[in-house]
Amino acid sequence: MEHQPDKATYYCLNCDKDWPCDPAREYLLTSTPDPVQLAMRLRIELEDAAYVLAHEPPVVLFDRFLKWSR
Ligand SMILES: [Zn+2]
Repeated sequence: MEHQPDKATYYCLNCDKDWPCDPAREYLLTSTPDPVQLAMRLRIELEDAAYVLAHEPPVVLFDRFLKWSR
């Protein structure tokens, strides 16, 4: 997958947008069809991202990392 997050900033390494960008979301949805597994995977990403993106309100992070996957 080309659309990986830069772990220092959580921008996409490929398209320089906030990660997960649209292609990354698409990839996550197709590669992890089980919604519970997908939620667990995103929860782990959110845990890492929350340190980097500590300035963002929690609701923004929730929408960005978890809400779209439902
Ligand atoms: Zn991207």
